This record gives sequence, C-alpha cells and structure tokens, in this order.
Amino acid sequence: MHNTGMGITDDFEVLLQESAATHGHLCPGQVLGVRMSLLGLKSINAEDPKGRDRKSIMVFVEMDRCATDAVQSVTGCSLGKRTMKFMDYGKMAATFLNLRTGKAVRIVAREEARISARQCFPEMEDPYAAQLAAYRVLPDAELFSVAAVRVAVSPEDMPGRPLSRVPCARCGEYVQDRREQKLGGDFVCRPCASGGYYRILQGDRYAE
Ligand SMILES: [Zn+2]
Ligand SMILES: [Zn+2]
Repeated sequence: MHNTGMGITDDFEVLLQESAATHGHLCPGQVLGVRMSLLGLKSINAEDPKGRDRKSIMVFVEMDRCATDAVQSVTGCSLGKRTMKFMDYGKMAATFLNLRTGKAVRIVAREEARISARQCFPEMEDPYAAQLAAYRVLPDAELFSVAAVRVAVSPEDMPGRPLSRVPCARCGEYVQDRREQKLGGDFVCRPCASGGYYRILQGDRYAE
C-alpha cells in the first residue's frame, strides 16, 4: 500500500486486509465498507485519499458499525481530524464529499443486496461466510444505490484550529467551535442547556 503519489491502489484485497487489521476482524462490514469507500472516492474524484487528496475529503457516516471502521481505514478520514462526521441515523450509508470541488455522493447499502448475497453462494452453509463472499463479488450496482448530493459544511465544522472557545456560564467548562447555546442572556454548554448523556454522581474529586 502506497501512502503517497501512487493513487489509491486498485488492490481491493490489500485495502481489505488493512481495514480488517485495524478493525480487529474480517467481516461482511469490512468488505461492504471498503467497497463503499472505493466507490465513494472514485465518484468524487479523490482516488488518492492518503496522498494528493488528503486534505480534500470529508465523510459523513450514518452508522456506528463495522463498516464505519472500513471507511476510516480506506479514506484516512477520522473524527479526530474532523474529516469524519458521525450522523446517528442508524443507516448503512455514508456521504463522501470533495471539499475542493463540492462534489458529493451519498451511498446506501441496498437492502436487496442482503438477499442477493444469500442467493449468491447457496452451497455455503454459514450464512455469514456466504454474505462475506458475496459482498466481494456482487457488482456495485447491486450492492449500493448512489445519489449526487449537496452538503453544506459550516466553518465551525471544518478541520483546523477551533473557531471559538467560551466558558459555560453554568458549569465553567470550556466549549469550542460554537457549540455553546444562548440561555437567558448567557452562553451555556449543551448539557447545561438541555441535559447531557451523563448524570454527575460525585463532584470533582481533585477540586479540594
Ligand atoms: Zn466487524
Ligand atoms: Zn455547562
């Protein structure tokens, strides 16, 4: 696997191995994710994701499942680089955006592909293995539906230095990138404004 200059290798197997290694196992999600990423990158003319096109790709993943790791592995996009956005839709879908040209495609794994996969290798007894094998060979058109889309990315969602940093008027914790909310004339963080995913049981044990 070349990281610079050579363009994305068409070596699907190499990409699949890399992604399975990062993810921890080879599974249908890896096959689907690698194929989805290859198709996505090709569709937005960003076939050198870890070289030339490194700074011009953003991916919106709509699932936090096996395939998400494959998308990260192939595209090089990540949450930490702010080039991967997680949209919690629970769908096997992802949008690939070329930041340079604005070109974007949303790719959804077709529900019919599950059925075709099962019919593909009827002689295989393990449905999981049959699915994995079928996802390797089924044509893109059977696996995915693809739509050209427009995605507006706000400046505060772009990679780069934080655009803002303000303390929450309630808890005092700092909030970056305009995630603060206005509440009765004050800026507060989201959990203070509308409740968070956690509930504090005991205060800061390093405070005193
Ligand atoms: Zn998996
Ligand atoms: Zn707060």
